[in-house]
Amino acid sequence: MHDDVQHGSWLAHGGGQAADEAGVVPSIPMSTTWRRDRGYALVDPDQTYLRDHSPLVRRVEDVVARLEGAAATRLFGSGMAAIAAVVRSVPSGGTVLLQQGTYWGTTAFVRRHCAHAGVTLVEVDTTDAALAAAAVDAHTPDLVWVEVPSNPMLGITDVTALAQVVHAHGGVLAVDATAATPLGLRPLGLGADLSVHSATKELNGHSDVLAGVVSAATVDTASWGHVLAERVGAGAVIGQLEAWLLLRGLRTLHLRHARSVATAAQLAAWLYAHPEVDRVLHPSLPDHPGHDVHVRQADDAGALLSLCVRGGREAALRAVGRLQLVQRATSLGGTESLVEHRATLEEGIPEDLLRLSVGIEAPEDLVADLAQALGG
Ligand SMILES: *Cc1c(COP(=O)(O)O)cnc(C)c1O
Repeated sequence: MHDDVQHGSWLAHGGGQAADEAGVVPSIPMSTTWRRDRGYALVDPDQTYLRDHSPLVRRVEDVVARLEGAAATRLFGSGMAAIAAVVRSVPSGGTVLLQQGTYWGTTAFVRRHCAHAGVTLVEVDTTDAALAAAAVDAHTPDLVWVEVPSNPMLGITDVTALAQVVHAHGGVLAVDATAATPLGLRPLGLGADLSVHSATKELNGHSDVLAGVVSAATVDTASWGHVLAERVGAGAVIGQLEAWLLLRGLRTLHLRHARSVATAAQLAAWLYAHPEVDRVLHPSLPDHPGHDVHVRQADDAGALLSLCVRGGREAALRAVGRLQLVQRATSLGGTESLVEHRATLEEGIPEDLLRLSVGIEAPEDLVADLAQALGG
């Protein structure tokens, strides 16, 4: 396949045609080990043991690397396994600077790990560029971790500005861009060192696979060496069936993404004008605090939004209970729209906030469902 075709064209072919396979769809290598011949040479020089190398996993990694503009990408068994591999690269005595209000699982893991491993942890609102720069100057962190956009408050951190100050002190900047996908935001092109995704979400897109991915701007760094060692040495690998399902999901990423992003912007504007809605958090809205930075660094505003229902906790729970098409469940990035009252599960989230992951349904049906749920 020519290199100059658009993303969607090679995604539709699962990343291109494998030279060593006649099948249009790759087969699933289930053997965990590979034979040696009588002279004790490997029958296939690339294949020893499945934890070290799988041709199918490499193929999926190459697809994500191309989307990210990355020098290399590695798949993990979940988003959290990918995140843990990066965070564990900081040695004891080092410092991690974590954005306030990241995905709750990330915050919980980083806090517990740093306390356990003797790593200093600084938590800062990185959506305030001056505050973030001052914190990096003061603490010279080994690793800075941000989420763009953040989940569920849709905070926007200026990746380019932060990368400059982090690099001035010799640190590593990692960006979790799960809610954006590489079609919406490519942190490596903005100066980040590592880009991380829960591939469980929109990359797979069908709410049926747990997977994570880490991509690097360059491979000859200590941090990337640690990520590779963590994956193979600590065994944080993805299963073959999951890798295969992820590749299948990626075949339609561009279509799913375009549809859900367009619908999300439409819903954000509609909710913004709704009398029963106090506030809408989505970077597409001109009065979103991160709108200008978002427009500069991202290609689209993504399919995740939050709304604050007038009347507080009771009104929010009443509205969420009335939804018929949108399902009440955690997670995001699937073909089906999902809604969550995050304050039920997580401290520090406004009680009136509902997080909406917008799927690929007919936009009119989503508007109708939200309209009957919100009343008026
Ligand atoms: C879901 C999620 C994760 C965790 O990924 P898993 O695949 O569930 O382990 C990390 N970061 C963000 C932003 C997420 O939405």
